[in-house]
Order: sequence, then C-alpha cells, then structure tokens
Amino acid sequence: MLFLKNKKEKGFSLLELLIVIGIIAIITTIALPLYFRALEDAKRTTQWNNINAFIKQIELFSIKSGRFPTPQEFQNIIKSSQNFSEIPLCPYNGKNYTFTSSLSSFRTLMQNDNFNNAHILYYESTAKSYTIFYYPPKFYIGNKVSKRFHYPWCWTLPEPRNQVLLKTREEAIEKGYIPCGNCKP
Ligand SMILES: [Zn+2]
Repeated sequence: MLFLKNKKEKGFSLLELLIVIGIIAIITTIALPLYFRALEDAKRTTQWNNINAFIKQIELFSIKSGRFPTPQEFQNIIKSSQNFSEIPLCPYNGKNYTFTSSLSSFRTLMQNDNFNNAHILYYESTAKSYTIFYYPPKFYIGNKVSKRFHYPWCWTLPEPRNQVLLKTREEAIEKGYIPCGNCKP
C-alpha cells in the first residue's frame, strides 16, 4: 500500500510523458527552424545595411571628388571611424570588413567558406564606375538553357540572353534551377 502511494506521488503517467514528448517534438520541428530562419534574416539585413553604409560613403566621395574611390581609398572608407558612428562589423563572423580587388581570389574565398569569409568584399573601380560584391549576393543568375543558377560573380555565367534574375536561393530551387558546380551558390 505504501509502495503504491509513493509511486503515484513521484512518478509520471504514460500520458503525461507522451504530452511532454509531444511538446518537445513541436518545439524542435516548428519553433527551432523558425528561430534559425529569423536569425539568418537578421544577419542578412545587417550585412546589407553595412554594405549600403559603405556604398553611401563611396557616393559621397564621388560627389566631392568627381570620381570613384580607388581600392586604396576604399580601404580608408571602410576603416575610418570618422565615417560611421561605429565601424560596422560583419554579422556572420564578427570580423572587421576587408576587401580584395582580385576577382579570382574573391571567387576562391567565397567557394571555400562563405560564413568565415563573409567580411571579405570585392571592390574595384575606375573613375566612372565601381563594382562591389559581397556575401550573400542580392540576387542570383539562372541559366535558361542549362537550368543551373550562379552567384553573380561566377566565371561560367551564361550569355546575357540566357540569363534569368533570381532574387533568392529559395526562389531558384523552387523554379527548378540546380546550383552551379563551380561557384556552388
Ligand atoms: Zn556558377
């Protein structure tokens, strides 16, 4: 009698256990992916805001000087605390932004590990134009013929008439495009 009484007070019934397991299952299948998705979206937004802050400085420079900054001058722009209330840090790895003007080394860096290299930008310029690439890209490029999709900096992009602009990776996959084996988007 005493044994039964103790069991009733201290143990869980099978139904209670099943409810607990069910709640844990709901948390892991619904709430966690949503949480990671929100975290990913926040990083993406911060990255874009940081890049836009750099672009604003590039544009200001061109208004003052009548030409776009050279890579050396761009380096001063992203490193100088005078330009920002706080120097932006990359949200993917917490590192200070840096850049390369070599497209081939940028491509290699992006292929190896996007998150660890997300603070590395590509910047090159002439007096009249500039190009800036960063991770993640603002769009992807699909090939209508091969049905592959690429980073905008891929070296095997289709010719312009076969290009399709894809806003996100998800959109590309939804529309039946396969990631390019070279740039691995
Ligand atoms: Zn590619």
